[in-house]
Amino acid sequence: MKLRHVLTAVWNCVVVRILVVEDDPTIAEPLVAGLARNGFDPVHVRTGRGALSSMAGVDLVLLDIGLPDLDGSEVCRQLRSTSDVPIIVVSARSEEVDRVVLLEMGADDYVVKPFGLRELIARIRAVARRASGAEPAVQRFEVGPLVVDVRAHEVMVDGAPVELTPKEFDLLAHLASDPGAALTRRSILEEVWDANWYGSSKTLDVHVASVRRKLGHPEWIQAVRGVGFKLVTDAPPPDPVGTGEAPDGAA
Ligand code: CA
Repeated sequence: MKLRHVLTAVWNCVVVRILVVEDDPTIAEPLVAGLARNGFDPVHVRTGRGALSSMAGVDLVLLDIGLPDLDGSEVCRQLRSTSDVPIIVVSARSEEVDRVVLLEMGADDYVVKPFGLRELIARIRAVARRASGAEPAVQRFEVGPLVVDVRAHEVMVDGAPVELTPKEFDLLAHLASDPGAALTRRSILEEVWDANWYGSSKTLDVHVASVRRKLGHPEWIQAVRGVGFKLVTDAPPPDPVGTGEAPDGAA
């Protein structure tokens, strides 16, 4: 069992069942699959009335604002009148709602579509943690001189902090969660970008290049031909070209 999955399982002693209220199947299907893959127990309903009648045993609600029957904000108000279950509102950019209004309605947080699975899971954990008062499992990966502290959102190399963008951080945290394992491009794109990522995978290469440069050890993130990437902090120093790729004889 991978470390990441152990940590997820530990945390899921606190949060298990997530009610996904979403009428759009192109969003709901990958979202439900992604939550299940990360150890949650998602329950999917397509309407506001469905949500109001499916609350038994639910630990957290992901609530789409644009629903076919009741307005999401009305669902939020009604849920809140009978339950203090954490609610994360999901809104499309076109129907972006004032954050203050959402919080007044009783929502605990909100995300705007399109969002990445990893970002959403971080929000779910933060909201559930605040709601339960429980501390989550420590998510800190130490790989040789590299430390990736997911809770503190910090990266250190030999004790010195490294500044990464949010996506770069997620990418490195994903690689560090299973050091030495060759992770496929597909799985990295799904985990770090979106369960439903249709963009160019060139984005991944650009981020890998940037993380390599910022870590100051380009050889740590190795390209695995035909597969993807792996994190190896005890790799030999880079070739003179300094790309971190295997020398191809062109140097
Ligand atoms: Ca909708």
